[in-house]
Amino acid sequence: MVLPPQGRESLNRLIIRGTEVVSSNRVLRNIERFEAKRPLIVVCSDVISLPPLSVNIFGFCPVYKAEEYDFATGTWTDVTANYDWNLLTDLKGTEVAISTTGGVDRRFRVYIDLLGSWIYISAIMFCVRKINALSEFVVEASSYSNFSADVSTHLNWTGNVSSWDAHFYFWLDSDSNKRYIRITFTIRRDTDGDICIKQILGLSRAPPGILFERHYPFSWDKNRNIYPVADNSKDLGTSSRRWRDLWVGRDVHSGSIYPNADNTYDIGSSTLRWANVYAVNVITGDIGFEELSCPVCGQQFKVNDSIVLKVRKVDSDKILCIPVHTTCNPHELPEEEITEPPQEDKRLEIIPNPSFEITAIEPADENRMYIQAKFEDGIVVWITADIEASEDEITEKLKEAYVNEKRRIIEDEERKRKGAEKLKMIKERLIGMKKKVEIKADEIKRAEAV
Ligand SMILES: [Zn+2]
Repeated sequence: MVLPPQGRESLNRLIIRGTEVVSSNRVLRNIERFEAKRPLIVVCSDVISLPPLSVNIFGFCPVYKAEEYDFATGTWTDVTANYDWNLLTDLKGTEVAISTTGGVDRRFRVYIDLLGSWIYISAIMFCVRKINALSEFVVEASSYSNFSADVSTHLNWTGNVSSWDAHFYFWLDSDSNKRYIRITFTIRRDTDGDICIKQILGLSRAPPGILFERHYPFSWDKNRNIYPVADNSKDLGTSSRRWRDLWVGRDVHSGSIYPNADNTYDIGSSTLRWANVYAVNVITGDIGFEELSCPVCGQQFKVNDSIVLKVRKVDSDKILCIPVHTTCNPHELPEEEITEPPQEDKRLEIIPNPSFEITAIEPADENRMYIQAKFEDGIVVWITADIEASEDEITEKLKEAYVNEKRRIIEDEERKRKGAEKLKMIKERLIGMKKKVEIKADEIKRAEAV
């Protein structure tokens, strides 16, 4: 015996083991309580793919058009701009709130772009709040965004299910494999106020890989690297929803870098300095020097002193200068200012039981602090620790950070060495190569961002 699906036909009579459980005077009344029950488990021959972030093939799909039916004139009015319809597919607890007059049917249809075909929507969950009745739910698909042709109907349900806050679950008559979906629904609230449409979720038979690739705001590879879904098109954080600290173990490749506010933040500090800054032009306000006294006369610099720069060191690719009094200019720099103590890079050496010195402590928040330590081989590490942390706990954390950093430096050096070997040949072949590429103007225009 097969029961007709919910609301699709009238179930007039149902007899189980000789007992009539549904008849004209025994009506099943539990349909409106459906959403409050445990999740429905559907056993069928089709596999339903459930994306991990949500069971929703409509996730992040653009709701590119919405219309409301005018019962008086029998025409559809475009209401795309009246509400933020993309909230219906954002996988969040947001909602489209529509002010309504009590007892009046409101009939809408929304157009969803699935961003590709072969999606196979099998079922749809319609999540609403503050409505008294749902009386229509129609699902159509087309390969044209304006539904001018190739329109197929996958569900055409009418009925009258009363509810208030509800999730309506519709199993479609047939799967759709077309790119555009149009969902028509008629809802009613019996008192004046907002009707709220929260989400439209889609259950699909599409291979999960398609769902990830087309719909999620980020992607990844088999090595667990993550990246945006399209090149140079998505942001990380916003001006009002910022990430806090950003820790990067290796290189940062970027476009322009800006501080959050003018004349507020530093690059490096007196205790945690960058080694060399390479720039073509440096345009600055005041110029600062580390030297507080003149290396020639030994006097502290003071306001209104005139200075000149004296070359202290000549390298193959740069000269290094320090300030001296203009009046001290004729004199040569003392010997110790000219020759730098030799600085071997001990960072690549493996030193057993290295000693360290804590060189800075900064507050992270009310419960945690940043601690900077310099190890004897020159490696500097930062850790975050509880303000109450014991010396042993801090030492253990510093050790962990040190081992990670040491390993990184050694591996990095190894990679560079291997890369340099490989590059030798390639460099000889490619440096100096001159060629032309053929580019048409329309190739420069970016493909529509996903
Ligand atoms: Zn001087």
